[in-house]
Amino acid sequence: MSYLSNLECGLCGKELEADKIWNLCPECSKPLLARYDLEAAAKAFDKNMLAGRESSLWRYHEMLPVRDPKYRLCLGEGYTPVYHAERLGREVSFAGLYIKDEGMNPTTSFKARGLGMAVSRAHELGVKEVSIPSAGNAAGAMSAYAALAGMKAYVFMPQDVPRPFISECRALGAEVTLIDGLITDCGKAAAELVKKYHRFDVSTLKEPYRIEGKKTMGYEVAEQMDWELPDVIIYPTGGGTGLVGMWKAFAEMEALGWIGPKRPRMVSVQSTGCAPMVRAFEQGTEFAEPWDGAKTVADGLRVPAAVGDFLILRALRESGGIAVAVADEDMMVGANKIGQTQGIFVAPEGGATLAAFEHLRRQGWIKDDETVLLFNTGSGHKYEHLWR
Ligand SMILES: *Cc1c(COP(=O)(O)O)cnc(C)c1O
Repeated sequence: MSYLSNLECGLCGKELEADKIWNLCPECSKPLLARYDLEAAAKAFDKNMLAGRESSLWRYHEMLPVRDPKYRLCLGEGYTPVYHAERLGREVSFAGLYIKDEGMNPTTSFKARGLGMAVSRAHELGVKEVSIPSAGNAAGAMSAYAALAGMKAYVFMPQDVPRPFISECRALGAEVTLIDGLITDCGKAAAELVKKYHRFDVSTLKEPYRIEGKKTMGYEVAEQMDWELPDVIIYPTGGGTGLVGMWKAFAEMEALGWIGPKRPRMVSVQSTGCAPMVRAFEQGTEFAEPWDGAKTVADGLRVPAAVGDFLILRALRESGGIAVAVADEDMMVGANKIGQTQGIFVAPEGGATLAAFEHLRRQGWIKDDETVLLFNTGSGHKYEHLWR
C-alpha cells in the first residue's frame, strides 16, 4: 500500500487532491510535491521491514505514489550499488570516498527512476499518451516505461543529439521528432501538441511524480550506508529532481524515525558552460536567471532554466552545501580517472563530481576525515563520441 495523502505546491503551498491528473500548480505554475501520511506511516512502517524485499526502488512502495501494485512498471530500476572507492581514494589521497553507480539502471541512467515512477502513476491514473522534450537520457527512460505500459510515447529532440540517444527511443517504440533548434525549441513543439492532442507532459518537475522516483536515491543511500548518511553528497545538477528528491527523502525518513537530524552537505555540480544554479547560489537569490548560450558535453547538465530552481537552491542552503562549476575538460579527466581506478565507465556528469570533489578538497571545504558520496548519474556508453 501507499501512504500518499495529497499534493502540495512547493512554492505557494496550495493543496490538491492526489488522485487526479495534475501538471504544475494551477495557482502559481510551480512544481507540485507529493505528501504522505507520515504520522500513520511512522507507527506501521519500520525500516526492519525492508529486509528481504526486492532489489528495486519499489522496496519503498509505502512512501511511493502508486497505490495498486498492478501498475508498478518494473525493469529493475533502483537499488544500484554503492562502492567504497578505495583505489580512486588512494589516487586522490582521501579515504572516505564512495560512488553510487546509477549507470546500472535500465536505459543506463537514473532517469529510469523518475520516468519509471511518473509513467507508472500516469498509467494508474488512466493516461494513454506521454510526451517529453529531451536532449538526452530522459527520453529513452520514458520510452522504455511507456512501452511496458502499452502507452504511446512522443519524443522531441534537437537534431544534433548523439545518435545512441535517438536510436534507443526508436528501438523502444517512441515516435521521435527531431527539431532544428535547441531543447527550448523542442519544449515549445512538444507543448503545442500536448495541448492539441491531450497528451500527458512528463517534462522535469512539470508533473509531481518523477521526483518521487528520484527521491529513492536518498532512501537507498541511508539504507546502504547503514542509516548513517555521508558528510557530503556531490550531485551533477540539471533540472535538479535528484537533489530535491533526496532532500525530501531525508525529511521523510526523519519523520518516520529512521534517521536522526544529521544531513549531508549537498553539492550541486554544473558545467562552466551552463551554470545557472552556481550563479544564483553565489548571488544569494531565491530563483535563478536563465543561462544564455548554454553549452556543455554533459547533456544532462545543459539545462539553462529549471522550473524547480528555488527548490534546488533551498536544499543547498538548508544543508550548508555549495554549488560548483567545472570545465568540460575537467569532467572528462574525472571520468577517465574513475574508469581507470574503479572500472566504471561513467558519463561526463559522473566525471564532473570528481572534478568538483578535487576542487573542494583543495579549498579545504572538504576535510580529511569526512565521508563523501559521488553520484555517477549515468553510464558513458551513450556518450562514446566523447572518447573518439
Ligand atoms: C538528467 C541528468 C542529470 C541531471 O539530473 P537532474 O536530477 O535533472 O538534475 C545528470 N546526469 C545525467 C547523466 C542525466 O541524464
